[in-house]
Amino acid sequence: SIPLGYFGGIGAASRLGVLFKGGNYLDAITQVNTVVFDKTGTLTKGTFDVQSCQAQPGVTEEKLIQLAASAERNSTHPIAKAIISYAKQRDIELIATTDVTEIAGHGLQATMDGTRVLVGNTRLLTKFGIEYPDELSSIVDTIVACAIGTKYAGYLLLSDTLKEDAVNAVKELKALNINNIQILSGDKQAIVTNFAEKLGITQAYGDLLPDGKVKHIEALRSNPANRIAFVGDGINDAPVLALSHVGIAMGGLGSDAAIETADVVIQTDQPSRVATAIHAGRQTRRIVW
Ligand code: ADP
Ligand code: MG
Repeated sequence: SIPLGYFGGIGAASRLGVLFKGGNYLDAITQVNTVVFDKTGTLTKGTFDVQSCQAQPGVTEEKLIQLAASAERNSTHPIAKAIISYAKQRDIELIATTDVTEIAGHGLQATMDGTRVLVGNTRLLTKFGIEYPDELSSIVDTIVACAIGTKYAGYLLLSDTLKEDAVNAVKELKALNINNIQILSGDKQAIVTNFAEKLGITQAYGDLLPDGKVKHIEALRSNPANRIAFVGDGINDAPVLALSHVGIAMGGLGSDAAIETADVVIQTDQPSRVATAIHAGRQTRRIVW
């Protein structure tokens, strides 16, 4: 049976928007010494804005946006939302897509008007052997590139911003004496490093495919001294949430898969609630023991 103190702890935490799925996690979270954050949607707002677009000669901006947005209509990624609403703003009509494949950590492949179209990062273009200008690699922002058939057609430039609460999230963890704080992301290393520096996080790992995130957590787990909490919100985060000692999902904009797999769900959009959760665990332990 669960000692009464755990009910108190779970109740107190839930009033702060932190849902523990069981008393055992209140206990497990007191052991945590390593907090690993997903970047997009967890530390950043995860609601991108399209800043500009750059179409290749012979491709109109409208066509580029139309293809990108039509493909993205098949995705729930935060990038997809941004591109679809940008097309709406510019009154660009979307077209029908068939044979759509979403490739995690890459983007989408779809057929439109009888032509194969690719919409995603440069890794996607490389995967399909499509050549693109060198400049693309040096852009320190999220870009969504597009290929029509086997030809590179241009890109959209997107930006995401840190959540106001992200700086607090890191400060509060450090105040709880948790100094092993990391960011994992499928986004480009330069972007991840840039956000990490603003937060006072020195361990920033970018360019990771979903499988790379799993390998990273496995490597951390191989040292039994590491007690890991992973904090994420995306569909792709479910395997890593499951693998961590305590999986924490940001429930605000989070995916159902992440919320379902997690041990703890943060119902507000505040990553600093991770520190709240750890604090709640420590308080409860003091009462129960
Ligand atoms: P993270 O949540 O860590 O940023 P993801 O695995 O969700 O990582 O995505 C990694 C990268 O893959 C994105 O930064 C983007 O470049 C590309 N990507 C993933 N899904 C899409 C999509 N629907 N459209 C365009 N690009 C995408
Ligand atoms: Mg994500």
